[in-house]
Amino acid sequence: MLCVTVSFAGELRDHLDRATRDGVVRLTLELPAGLRDVVQSLGVPHVECGEVTVNGEAKPWSSNVADGDEISVRARYPLGSPRLDPRFLLDDHLGKLARHLRMLGFDADHEVGADDSDLARRSVAEARMLLTRDRGLLMRAVLRDGRFIRSVEPTDQAIEVVRSFALATVVQPLTRCLECNELLSAASREEVADRVPASAAVRHDRFGLCPTCRRVYWEGTHVDDLRERIRLILEGAGS
Ligand SMILES: [Zn+2]
Repeated sequence: MLCVTVSFAGELRDHLDRATRDGVVRLTLELPAGLRDVVQSLGVPHVECGEVTVNGEAKPWSSNVADGDEISVRARYPLGSPRLDPRFLLDDHLGKLARHLRMLGFDADHEVGADDSDLARRSVAEARMLLTRDRGLLMRAVLRDGRFIRSVEPTDQAIEVVRSFALATVVQPLTRCLECNELLSAASREEVADRVPASAAVRHDRFGLCPTCRRVYWEGTHVDDLRERIRLILEGAGS
């Protein structure tokens, strides 16, 4: 029998049972176990962890724990400086969050109907941060980058992502198609004349065109709503 103590820092404590929200868990193990299994058995996905030390020494996930070990786990998020050129992959249930992230200009791929293996494989192969509300999915050893989305409401979820990855200063609002995640290209009034209402064609001379679905975006009243939502997200992330 092995007895170990595991201390979790910062927001990793969100994953712990109420009784251990001070971040310290004393654990008795029947059998020898690996470091990653011990940490994840407490509900904390390895992809959210920063440096892990055992008795004060940094250790890789492949290490085994020994009787009396004092394990200390730092939180990887929130980042201190912006994650540059972030690329996300969102699971089936986070479609609205995907649209919010696209509205902010971030590459946010949203896969409908994909199973967990596909999501994990794509996250690794395409170096996309996997965003999900499924802790079990994030515990797959193959994953390198991901985060459990704590909030339920899409605007709060967007605030959470912007804050975690320090993205407030690198947003590029309204540069991406909300439907298919493609970057918009600039289009002239003549190019889009048959795709926008006559009133918009008269009033505006700059348009954004999605190369995939051919949707056209312009500075109409609906854009004021989007800009207000962006303002709320950035304000929320800064508070
Ligand atoms: Zn599109």
